[in-house]
Amino acid sequence: MNDEVDWSLATLGVRAGQQRTAECEHAEPIFPTSSYVFESAAQAAARFKGDDPGNIYSRFTNPTVRTFEQRLAKMEAGESCVATSSGMAAILSTCMGLLQAGDHIVSSNAIFGTSVILFNKYMAPFGVETSYVPLIDLDAWRAAIKPNTRLLFLESPSNPLTEVADIQALADIAHEHGCLLVVDNCLCTPALQQPLKLGADVVIHSATKYIDGQGRCIGGAVVGNKELVGEKVYGFLRTAGPTMSPFNAWVFLKGLETLKLRMQAHSQNALELAQFLESHDNVTRVYYPGLESHPQHALAKSQQADFGGVLSFEVAGGQTGAWKVIDSTRMLSITANLGDAKTTITHPATTTHGRLTDEERAEAGISDGLIRIAVGLEDIDDIKVDIARGLS
Ligand SMILES: *Cc1c(COP(=O)(O)O)cnc(C)c1O
Repeated sequence: MNDEVDWSLATLGVRAGQQRTAECEHAEPIFPTSSYVFESAAQAAARFKGDDPGNIYSRFTNPTVRTFEQRLAKMEAGESCVATSSGMAAILSTCMGLLQAGDHIVSSNAIFGTSVILFNKYMAPFGVETSYVPLIDLDAWRAAIKPNTRLLFLESPSNPLTEVADIQALADIAHEHGCLLVVDNCLCTPALQQPLKLGADVVIHSATKYIDGQGRCIGGAVVGNKELVGEKVYGFLRTAGPTMSPFNAWVFLKGLETLKLRMQAHSQNALELAQFLESHDNVTRVYYPGLESHPQHALAKSQQADFGGVLSFEVAGGQTGAWKVIDSTRMLSITANLGDAKTTITHPATTTHGRLTDEERAEAGISDGLIRIAVGLEDIDDIKVDIARGLS
């Protein structure tokens, strides 16, 4: 479909990557097959030799998964996409495909907790060391880079405090030092932010979150150029096998079709809730990049199409005050997940950040009165009523 080059994001989400079979199906088909049949011994030999690009085995390629990969690659403005069994498998595959013993990572200290465990507990014993820096301190990033640094790694906005990284500036710093910039784009999705266009080299996704959007499947993806992602990351994936199942790829394809609409709706609800909370007497602080009071509001506005669905706020009374708000809700889901049509509410200090020491938690800015909301698609007035109940 040659028109794809001119299509905008909403259109790519609905149509990119689809190749109809001889059955002329309208919706994308699911191909639940582990292997593929060859027309002759010669064709089998050519496929295995790499002279014929067709399918061999679904650990390597699968038509439904490929449609998802091509669609997401187009939406992120990347050459290649590799779909994985989870977001963590995407981060692992990126590390295994691009790093070797002796390499060093500089990472934002405000990343998904399991990513920290992956770097510290599982990459370190194989000789890949990681240093952590504050997301928005460009001097700290520069100072942490060593001769063996290969990757800079970040999420923006951060979760739960919604700090916004200057992706363009960090891409420049990475490239000045011969490093690659890897951005976990889970919170924004390509509907709101396209890190490759800002100079990043690799984009990571947990498709489990907004790409699915309805909390059904676990999956992930890596997007970037052909050499880094199409060859190196893919090479690890087809060998080690954390591939996406065709069923999950199909669910995520359907998710991509509504991604732009949903992200607009999540953002609109989140902004309205953030403004409501900011004006509430019993809320001491609100963290949301869409608020003019947010320290990086202008930066967020310049590099994002909208501000996303995640916000946090602080209430007086520490843990007791926060738990009262959470336990007074009747509709919101008390869960640490995000990226769902259903609004979720979490107390970071005793859940996602509960394993940190008091000192580490204070340094990370996670106070006992902090509550995180991943704003869903319910009517905003119902969400407000549910949160306000415990605030009075
Ligand atoms: C959830 C999440 C991941 C991990 O994704 P899984 O699909 O759960 O493996 C990685 N990064 C971010 C920012 C996430 O929110």
